[in-house]
Amino acid sequence: MHLKNKKAIVTGATKGIGKAIAQAFVKHGADIAVFATNQDRLNRIQKELEDIKVDPNQKIITKKVDVSKYAEVEKVSNEVLNEFGHVDILVNNAGITKDALLMKMSEEDFDRVIDINLKSIYNTCKVLIRPMIKNSKSKIINISSIVGLIGNFGQTNYAASKAGMIGFTKSLAKEVASKNINVNAVAPGFIETEMTEKIPEKIKEQILKNIPLKRFGKPQDIANMVLFLAGDDSDFITGQVFAVDGGMVM
Ligand code: NAP
Repeated sequence: MHLKNKKAIVTGATKGIGKAIAQAFVKHGADIAVFATNQDRLNRIQKELEDIKVDPNQKIITKKVDVSKYAEVEKVSNEVLNEFGHVDILVNNAGITKDALLMKMSEEDFDRVIDINLKSIYNTCKVLIRPMIKNSKSKIINISSIVGLIGNFGQTNYAASKAGMIGFTKSLAKEVASKNINVNAVAPGFIETEMTEKIPEKIKEQILKNIPLKRFGKPQDIANMVLFLAGDDSDFITGQVFAVDGGMVM
C-alpha cells in the first residue's frame, strides 16, 4: 500500500505503459483519474481498475479529454479536483508517434506530435500546479523517451517532443522544488505496446541487438519506476531523467 490515500491523475492510461501505471497505482491503494480520448477504452479501463481495487472506498474516475487542448484539460482537471479534493500525483504519459523522414513529414504530423506529447504537459501542469502547491508534497512524473536523449531516424517530431519534455521537467523542477513538488522524467527504451507493434520485424531485430539486457521492455518495467517516483521513497530526487531501457543508453 505504497500510495494509500494518494490521489493521482495518469494521462493515456487506457492501454500500454499508462495502463500498467494505473494498475500499479490502484494495487497500491491510490485513487486514480484516467485521461484519454477513446470512450470505449475508458469504459473498459474503468471496469478493469474497479476489479483490482484493494479498498472498496477507492475512487476510480475516467475522463474523455484530448490532452493537447488546454480548455478541455482545465475542465476535466477541475472536475477531478472537485471529486478528489486535491491531486498528489500527476503522470504525463499520453503520447503518439507519426514517423516519417523529415523530407516527407507534413507540418500537420509535426504539430500533432508536439501538441499531444509536449504541449499537453504544459496544459496539465499549468492547470494543476497551483492546487498541487497547496499539498504538503506532490509528485509530477513525465514519460519521455530515450529517443529524446539520443534522437532516432524518422522521428524528428517525436524526438523533439520528448527532448522538450526533459527541458520542461528540469525547469519546472527548479521552479517548484521549494514548494515540495518533485518533478522527474522517465525515458523508456523499447517497450512492447501498441505503439511499438507497428515497427517492422527487421527493425525490431536491429533494435534488440542494441539492448544489452537482450529483451524488449514490458509496460510493468516502466510502471515499477513510476511507482517508486510517485511514492515517499523518492522524496530527495527531483529534476532527473531515468532511462528504463535494458541498458540501451549508458
Ligand atoms: P500506447 O499504447 O499507444 O498508449 C497511448 C495512450 O495515450 C493511450 O491510452 C491513448 O488513449 C492515449 N492518448 C493518445 N492521444 C491522446 C490525447 N490526445 N489525449 C489523451 N490521451 C491520448 O503508447 P505506449 O507505448 O503505452 O506509450 C506511452 C508513453 O510512453 C508515450 O508518451 C510514449 O511516447 C512513451 N514511450 C513509449 C515507448 C515504447 O516503446 N512503447 C518508448 C518510449 C516512450 P486514446 O487513444 O484513448 O486517447
